Amino acid sequence: MSDRPAGPWVEEVRSRAADIRSRIEAAGGDPGTVRLLAVTKGQPVEAVEAAVAAGLPEVGESYAQELLAKADELEARSGGAGAGQRWHLIGRVQRNKVRQVAPLVHLWQSVDRLSLAGEVARRAPGAGVLVQVNVIGAAQQGGCRPEQVAAVVDGCRDLGLDVRGLMAIGPLGPADASRAAFRRVRELADAMGLAERSMGMSTDLEAAVAEGATMVRVGTALFGPRAGPGPVGK
Ligand SMILES: *Cc1c(COP(=O)(O)O)cnc(C)c1O
Repeated sequence: MSDRPAGPWVEEVRSRAADIRSRIEAAGGDPGTVRLLAVTKGQPVEAVEAAVAAGLPEVGESYAQELLAKADELEARSGGAGAGQRWHLIGRVQRNKVRQVAPLVHLWQSVDRLSLAGEVARRAPGAGVLVQVNVIGAAQQGGCRPEQVAAVVDGCRDLGLDVRGLMAIGPLGPADASRAAFRRVRELADAMGLAERSMGMSTDLEAAVAEGATMVRVGTALFGPRAGPGPVGK
């Protein structure tokens, strides 16, 4: 997995992050408040090290197994401390994987059903979560339907989880369709008094920022194409 040293990569990631912040600003966002999550799925552990060294300690992974493997490798490489990253789990997660990653995950971004929320609450009491919403009902993506969001949010709260906001993957297609979907997420979050809106990726972050994203999740635009498997259902 590690054929690319982190060192030379740091400057590249730093410069790409600056480009992304310019895009955020051009879309009407405040690059000082819209957070940039570095998505390292399908990238070697050096991507995590490079992100942290470039000032992006919030790192997202889609697969529990890959997160675990990278965390182990980073720990071994650093003599125990890890790279200083804060892991966000952003992909579909099976209940039986929750226990293993629970000690590592800083924010669970893909909670979309109460059975999963219950397992997270059991293994990581009080954990920070985002409820993932699937605005257009794309089958390959996770997320609950908009009409289920309130019940999932309330259920998470009843379980003692710290619901910070909503997460969504934008639809494929023209920018105005993306904007409509992101606007819906924003309205849902506002209706429930939720501050965090994690939406927007490499190709659609402008639409998300224009509609009020507080966090964008960017992989390809920071690290280049993914080597490993990284289907996102998009
Ligand atoms: C892969 C992934 C991203 C990043 O996608 P890019 O197009 O590489 O920026 C963001 N969010 C989720 C949920 C993903 O799975």
